Amino acid sequence: MAEVRPLILELGQKITDRLGRKINENDPEYWGLNEIVTDEMAEVALKMDVRKTVTLSQLVKLTGKSEEYLEKIMMDMAIAGLIEYNWENPKREKQYILPMFVPGSAEFTNMNQKQLEEHPKLGRFFDRMTFEPLTKVTPMVPEGGAGIGMHVIPVEKAIEAENTSVSVEHISHWLDKYDGKYAASPCSCRLSRRTYEEGCADDPEDWCIGVGDMADYLVETKRGHYVTREQVYEILQRAEDNGFVHQITNIDGENKIFAICNCNVNVCYALRTSQLFNTPNMSRSAYVARTESDKCVACGRCVEYCPAGAVKLGQKLCKKDGSRVSYPKHILPDNHKWSEANWDENYRDTARINCYSTGTAPCKTACPAHIGIQGYLKMASEGRYTEALELIKKENPFPAVCGRICNKRCEAACTRGTIDEAIAIDEVKKFIAQKDLDAKVRFIPKKVIPSNRGEFSQKIAIIGGGPAGLSCAFYLAEKGYRPTVFEKNKVAGGMLVYGIPSFKLEKDVVAAEIDVMKEMGVEIKTGVEVGKDVTIAQLREQGYKAFYIAIGCQGGRKAGVPGEDAEGVMTAVDFLRTVADDHDFKVSGKTVVVGGGNVAIDVSRTAWRCGGTDVQQFCLEQRNEMPATVEEIEEAEEEGIKINCGWGPKEILTKEGKVCGIVFKKCVSVKDETGRFNPKYDEADTLTVECDNVFLSIGQAIVWGDMLAGSKVELGRGNGVVADAVTYQTAEPDIFAGGDVYTGPKFAIDAIAAGKKAAVSIHRFVQPHSTLTIGRDKREFIELNKEDILVEGYDNTPRQVPGSKTTDSKFAETKLCFTEEQIKKETARCLSCGQSIVDENKCIGCGVCTTKCAFDAIKLHREHPKASRMTKSEDKLKAILPNILKREVKILLNPNRNSMEK
Ligand code: SF4
Ligand code: SF4
Repeated sequence: MAEVRPLILELGQKITDRLGRKINENDPEYWGLNEIVTDEMAEVALKMDVRKTVTLSQLVKLTGKSEEYLEKIMMDMAIAGLIEYNWENPKREKQYILPMFVPGSAEFTNMNQKQLEEHPKLGRFFDRMTFEPLTKVTPMVPEGGAGIGMHVIPVEKAIEAENTSVSVEHISHWLDKYDGKYAASPCSCRLSRRTYEEGCADDPEDWCIGVGDMADYLVETKRGHYVTREQVYEILQRAEDNGFVHQITNIDGENKIFAICNCNVNVCYALRTSQLFNTPNMSRSAYVARTESDKCVACGRCVEYCPAGAVKLGQKLCKKDGSRVSYPKHILPDNHKWSEANWDENYRDTARINCYSTGTAPCKTACPAHIGIQGYLKMASEGRYTEALELIKKENPFPAVCGRICNKRCEAACTRGTIDEAIAIDEVKKFIAQKDLDAKVRFIPKKVIPSNRGEFSQKIAIIGGGPAGLSCAFYLAEKGYRPTVFEKNKVAGGMLVYGIPSFKLEKDVVAAEIDVMKEMGVEIKTGVEVGKDVTIAQLREQGYKAFYIAIGCQGGRKAGVPGEDAEGVMTAVDFLRTVADDHDFKVSGKTVVVGGGNVAIDVSRTAWRCGGTDVQQFCLEQRNEMPATVEEIEEAEEEGIKINCGWGPKEILTKEGKVCGIVFKKCVSVKDETGRFNPKYDEADTLTVECDNVFLSIGQAIVWGDMLAGSKVELGRGNGVVADAVTYQTAEPDIFAGGDVYTGPKFAIDAIAAGKKAAVSIHRFVQPHSTLTIGRDKREFIELNKEDILVEGYDNTPRQVPGSKTTDSKFAETKLCFTEEQIKKETARCLSCGQSIVDENKCIGCGVCTTKCAFDAIKLHREHPKASRMTKSEDKLKAILPNILKREVKILLNPNRNSMEK
């Protein structure tokens, strides 16, 4: 055990603002300084008073050392971060300051990146110094923060309409005041968190803008570089795009700051002071947000970005008795006793809860990608089609595809379906997407990159160009990467191209949506099989930092019955792929399709188009249990396909190696008591059908090839990848997996949703020392109680039905898009079930939500004017003491003073 250094102990004691605390060697005040402060430095610093300026000549007198010695050691201390300096005196003479720890030396020590690398313990030092001194005081702090640290300054655009605002609430006021003296430097919180693997995956550079003499200090000590006002505005805009919170320092009294920060709540220690301790006064601006019910359409964008978890999705519809749902409010320390029980150590995760427990719009809840459906319906109703597309693409880069082939869980859940028929959500989406496909200039989503230095350089390999892989690629590109997709087939699209017949989804629709991805920087290498043409190990050598395995289930499954290897028997996957490549492929003679899902329906309809006569489909399930949608079944029947329910294959009959018939046995039940697939048969009850072709559509398998040879990636049920349920990380840390290869065969929209989640993980993984899980949106939503709603005065128009066209080709799409008039009628049918609700007790008035709302439905209101008070750190007790008295009285008068929640 190293000897305790008395000078460092003494210095820690001098700088700390922990009242009454006798600093010892276990305190961060000691071990933090001990990392980087020499005894010589401590000796000089001990001659200084905290936050009092001293010139070089005064220092000579105080220390008895020479000017040369002092000049050098003061610069060394400034570079280390122990000392700050400025020229804030009438003669503009350089003067030194021994700053407090926070804001002060704890930040400065962390902003010296070389030093932080050599002394990673400094990261924890900063963390502890923003925690330990605050544990007791935070509940007592009045609005305005009492000169402790920083406070929020709202997005300027959000308060422009407020004619009651005062100058210090405007960022432009501060930029005017320090005109021409700005320097951008790295964010010390982002750097600090990385030292203990809790980074937020943002590039830390340039988020912190020093103003006035602080700018010179940052540049001279090599922490930052000068920036122009235009560059400052660019950084601020980028911060708003990313949902970061603007904060200013608040320790120097009225009308004085030294930095404007752009804070990510997942790492920011200043925001933590209000979030962890549940004491919003520590951060809040003078404003609170409120939603306007008539305008809000629960798109959820504000919810995703609110740093405080103050806005969540609720419902707009009244309850059956006509009353409104009431929402819980956070209790505040103003009139409650406060203890550790009121803290929330998991505040970063809590803030990412999307929904109140009473639920929100069923459509958004049911959609696996949780698209803001109510929002885009509203936009479409107003003819704002490009904005509607933009909103959809936040969650789904394949709206034109999904508008044609989605299994529409949103519609199955739609509240309108309880009255007459669900909103034709998918048809509206198809219309919106088609507008873009038909446009001369396509819509290319804006990249939102959490970096001030342009795009990220890390190479990412996506293995499999189906919906999961391409969705992952799209969202990585949106985040600023240029991922490469390796696809073994001739064209990208996976099952969208090779598994879905073109009369439902024409290939150029898939290609058109992929074109947008390419435009955004996704590179697609087709005809490359990973494991055969190139291995993962080789790709690692080529510099790829992460992999996303999304190869889907591209193999067909057989039934395990005699005769299934005969000529004329094919799996659904093989058959559909063959026809996708060659529309002239011929099926001749009587055809039997085995299976009851949408794929089986596709096979039947395709077989009919290829010339199959007397196409019959047999499935285990009864009609009402069939996995295929009713719409799909009816369309097949309209084409003459006969559906036979309650039969399972027993044997395929052959003659000279060729199929000549199939024997079925009666299926008496499909699932067991636990709901698991476990069919039971009456072997004595059989049916023999003569036929020339049998297509088996009874499941799909994963075809791994040699991709995983030598890898630690584990395979589980059905040969699927074993991966973490939240992050999708496999046993090889740089390999992630998702889509059908992880879940087994599901729908395109499930794969698309999975791809986006994987992009989040991969971004966090490739940015060094980031957490894959903390502060992550788990994308969990709750459906409102449809049994307890009052729906009145809705539009009585019936659900619109799209027209159809006749074509020469049996493989061409026949269904038309809605007309504009139908769009108007259909969107007017939406009951507008959900809305965002702000808990004003949690809101810190940053205004981030207002920048995300495309409906002008959430606004800031100036309700805490005292929060704009700025106090000198030295005066904090003067600010806190009156509040303590006021608070004590309020607590005494509050009968619920001990309760945790109202
Ligand atoms: S203003 Fe309030 S509700 Fe809006 S994002 Fe900021 S904290 Fe959340
Ligand atoms: S009525 Fe509108 S908001 Fe409600 S579930 Fe249906 S589409 Fe969604």
